[in-house]
Amino acid sequence: MPLSPQDALVDTAEVLVVGGGDAGISSAARLLRDGWHDVVLVEPSPVHRYRPLLKDVGAGEASMRSLERPMGPVVPTAAGRSRTPSPRSTRRRTS
Ligand SMILES: Cc1cc2nc3c(=O)[nH]c(=O)nc-3n(C[C@H](O)[C@H](O)[C@H](O)COP(=O)(O)OP(=O)(O)OC[C@H]3O[C@@H](n4cnc5c(N)ncnc54)[C@H](O)[C@@H]3O)c2cc1C
Repeated sequence: MPLSPQDALVDTAEVLVVGGGDAGISSAARLLRDGWHDVVLVEPSPVHRYRPLLKDVGAGEASMRSLERPMGPVVPTAAGRSRTPSPRSTRRRTS
């Protein structure tokens, strides 16, 4: 993914977590609990999709929107946010 001037955030991070799926969000939360302060989470999607429910979408039992949540509430509360020029890019900084 190309970096923009806003990515100074990324350049200076103590810890960079790539991907805001379950693993990335859990890792960022764990790092904060363990005392790291400058954790940046890079996630290209503005929404978090709960993948286990994808099969329900495929079966016509749920809509794609029903398994989407904005990234904000699912990222550790110490986080801040900035966006890159790419419409599918979201970065959150924890500090
Ligand atoms: C249909 C289905 C049913 C499932 N059912 C279950 C279940 O019942 N129970 C269970 O425990 N697990 C289940 N799983 C598995 C579970 O969803 C996955 O194990 C889990 O989502 C993996 O989390 P992850 O963070 O590794 O990856 P993901 O959730 O895929 O997250 C990866 C993230 O990385 C981001 N990303 C990708 N490329 C880049 C990049 N270049 N730069 C920055 N970010 C990037 C993506 O946008 C995404 O947000 C299921 C999965 C599927 C597909």
